[in-house]
Amino acid sequence: MKNPLINNATKSVWSGEKDALVHGASQVPVVNSVAYTYDDIDEWYEVAIGKKKGHIYGRNTNPTVQAFEEKLRILENGEACTSFSTGMAAISNSLLTFLTPGDRVVSLKDTYGGTNKIFSEFLPRLQIEVTLVDTGDHEQMEREIAKGCKIVYLETPTNPTVKITNIDRMVKAAKEVGAMTFVDNTFATPINQQPLHLGADLVLHSATKFLGGHADALGGAAVGKKDLVEKIYHYREINGATMDPNAAYLLLRGMKTLKLRVDQQQKNAQIIAEFLQGHEKVEAVYYPGLKDHHHHDIASRQMTGFGGMLSFALKGELDAVRQFLPKLKYAHKAANLGAVETTVGPARTTSHVENTPEERAALGIPEGLVRYSAGIEDSTDLLNDLAQALDAIE
Ligand SMILES: *Cc1c(COP(=O)(O)O)cnc(C)c1O
Repeated sequence: MKNPLINNATKSVWSGEKDALVHGASQVPVVNSVAYTYDDIDEWYEVAIGKKKGHIYGRNTNPTVQAFEEKLRILENGEACTSFSTGMAAISNSLLTFLTPGDRVVSLKDTYGGTNKIFSEFLPRLQIEVTLVDTGDHEQMEREIAKGCKIVYLETPTNPTVKITNIDRMVKAAKEVGAMTFVDNTFATPINQQPLHLGADLVLHSATKFLGGHADALGGAAVGKKDLVEKIYHYREINGATMDPNAAYLLLRGMKTLKLRVDQQQKNAQIIAEFLQGHEKVEAVYYPGLKDHHHHDIASRQMTGFGGMLSFALKGELDAVRQFLPKLKYAHKAANLGAVETTVGPARTTSHVENTPEERAALGIPEGLVRYSAGIEDSTDLLNDLAQALDAIE
C-alpha cells in the first residue's frame, strides 16, 4: 500500500485551498459573512438541500472554514472532515452524535482532562456506561471491548504522561464487536500518525494545538468515513459549535508550516528527554522516543516521529516545581501546548485542572509532574535554560 505520509509536507502547504481562492488571490480570504444571497430561489433551495455546491448560513458552512476542513481531510487521508469551535466541541459533538441511553463506551483512564470529564460526569448522566481501562494495558482493554460497546475511544500519545496505545490492535478488537474506533490525534498530528490508515473510523483534533501552532486560535475537527462525518456535521450544524472564519484563517496559515514545526519540536523533545533522564533532580521522564519508554516499540511502529510533548516529575514534588518554573526564560508557563514557543505547566493547572487531587492520583498523575511542550527554538538554548532552572532548585 502507498505510504500516505510521504507527501504531507507538500499537502500542508498546498492542499484544500483551491475552491476558496477567488479573484485570483493566492491566499485563502476570510469570508466574514453570516449569510449568502440568492436571487434565484430554486438555486437557493438546491444549495440548501445540498444538491448544489454553495453556502447558506454561517453556522452550517463558510468558505474559509471549508478550506481548513479540506486541508486537514487531505492531511489525514479521510473521506470527509467537519470542524468545530474547539477541540472539546469536536470530541463532545462526535460522541453525542452516536450515543444513546444504554450504550457503552470503552476508553482510557488518562485521556485529556476535559474528555475524562465527559466520560465521568456527562455521559453517565445520559445512562451511557463508560469503562476506563489502565492506559497502555492492551489485554484489559481487549477484555472490556469484547463485552460489547458502541465506541472505543483512544488518545495516543496521551496528555500529559505520553502513554501509547496500539491503534491497530484496538481497532481489531472493536471490529469484532461491531464498535467504532475514535482516535484523538492531537499530540501526534497527521505528520506522525495516521489513525485512519490503521483502521480507525474517526480522527479527532484540537486544532488549537499543533495544527494551528501559534496559540492564537481555537478550533477542533473530526475526520473520517463520509457517512459518519455527515452525521456529526448534522449534529454540529444544529447544536452550533461552529468554527469562526477568522480562526480558520489563522489555523490554515499555521498548518502551512506544520511539518517544519513538528520536525523541530520533536528534535528538541528527544534531546531534552535524554538530558532530563540523566539529571539528578529529575525523578522520571516520560517520552515515547526514549528507549526505556513502556511502549517505545509500539510508538516506533505506528508513528513516524515521537512528537513534541514530554513530561517529567521533579524530585521534591510541588515545592521543586514552584522553584523551577519561574526560572525558565524560554517557556511560557501556560495551559496550552503545541505552539512555536516552548510551553510548560504542571498537569494540576493544565491538562487535569478539572480533576481533584484524588482523581489525579487515581489517574497516575503526580502533583509534581511538569508537562513540557517543546517549541521550535534552538535545542542548545532550551537545554541551557532547563539546566539553569534545575540548578536553582534547592
Ligand atoms: C487541548 C486538547 C483537547 C481539547 O481541545 P480544546 O481546543 O482546548 O477544546 C483535546 N484533546 C487533547 C489531546 C488536547 O491536548
